[in-house]
Amino acid sequence: MDEDTRYEAVRSGDARFDGEFFFAVETTGIYCRPSCPAVTPKRRNVRFFATAAAAQGSGFRACRRCRPDAVPGS
Ligand SMILES: [Zn+2]
Repeated sequence: MDEDTRYEAVRSGDARFDGEFFFAVETTGIYCRPSCPAVTPKRRNVRFFATAAAAQGSGFRACRRCRPDAVPGS
């Protein structure tokens, strides 16, 4: 899965990708599940991670709306 595909999943709020990857927003320091109900960030501000732990390890905090740290398999 390339980053364009991932970004498209985030933009469409596709819950099928929950647990497949996580995305983080450079400008807010928050990471989310693909289906997060928050406004989709600009592409250039987004980074992708395979696991919630990887996002956390890069200094991002879990989003309080979609709770990416509570996804099974993360
Ligand atoms: Zn979120």
